[in-house]
Amino acid sequence: MSKLNIIPVFVPHYGCPNDCIFCNQRKITNQNYIKDFEETRKSIEEYLNYFSNKDNETQIAFYGGSFTGLPMDVMKEFLSIGKSFIDQGVVNSLRLSTRPDYIDENILNILKSYGVSTIELGVQSLVDEVLITNQRNHLSDVVYSSSKLIKEFGFKLGLQQMLGLYKSDFKKDLYTTEEFVKIAPEFVRVYPTLVIKDSFLEKLYLDGKYKPYSLNETIELCKDIFCRFYKNGIDVIRIGLQPTDNITLGKDVVAGPFHPSIRQLTIQELYKDAMEEVLKNFSKQDIDVCVNNKELNYLVGNKGSNKKYIIEKYDIKNFKVHGTKDDKITIQSNKDMLELDIDKFLKSYRGLIR
Ligand code: SF4
Repeated sequence: MSKLNIIPVFVPHYGCPNDCIFCNQRKITNQNYIKDFEETRKSIEEYLNYFSNKDNETQIAFYGGSFTGLPMDVMKEFLSIGKSFIDQGVVNSLRLSTRPDYIDENILNILKSYGVSTIELGVQSLVDEVLITNQRNHLSDVVYSSSKLIKEFGFKLGLQQMLGLYKSDFKKDLYTTEEFVKIAPEFVRVYPTLVIKDSFLEKLYLDGKYKPYSLNETIELCKDIFCRFYKNGIDVIRIGLQPTDNITLGKDVVAGPFHPSIRQLTIQELYKDAMEEVLKNFSKQDIDVCVNNKELNYLVGNKGSNKKYIIEKYDIKNFKVHGTKDDKITIQSNKDMLELDIDKFLKSYRGLIR
């Protein structure tokens, strides 16, 4: 896949009319549209100067809100700012995120005419009971019809899933993952639910009516979810919210499995499991592992955690890891030379619930 230069534009919510129980954004109102348009243009210009590799494909991304739920004139103004950079030849396309119930043919025709190529839907769950109790204001049928329409129009489709919502559980989360696989988006983002200050979920949490997943539970579930997407060629581009000044424990995050690198933790756990499959017969030996430089972090783990775990568990005296340019992972012991086929391992991974 060619590399992308992404220019993020955070579109404020302008007083979202919805009332999802995990969100505290609906209170934000009275935005100054004109000021935001000016700032958007300036910030895009700054980003364009900043990119070192100008040959990469460049995309402006309208994140942070339900973009197609903006008042029509405001949405078109943002789009025309984006389009003006496409017309200058300095940006290739636009992308945006929105709600599944804010998609129809008219909207898609407009988006197409301004150069939008990628649409992400904040789906969160495909279990109707979960959508209802979280006050999403639409049911799962809308997700299937919007996704179909987006694909028919030739846009790239991304879907966002939330894990551990109120009234959800591992089984329901995995059902949503399986349904995503059937819809076949190009990519997904997975967000474990956090308890955010001033949300209704905070009240449920403080009243003892909602318990978020722990970080360990989240990683176990994410291993399963990651492999299901991997097996079906669906890119998991993010797991977990991006930390910001406010999105962090002790600020806006009251409770929940917050960690800045859940995707890394998930994949490194899978590499650990894969290594264990091979190394369980290799205790009390010297081990030399060769792995591609790009996978080195996953294999060794954060701060060498996987390496330490294996050394202790299998009583290994010398455990050396070598970064290579080769695609294969090889494990050399006192006795044997073995190959660890990580692709096969991920595709055949049997997780929590089948
Ligand atoms: S999560 Fe729900 S309430 Fe929050 S901004 Fe999105 S649609 Fe509105």
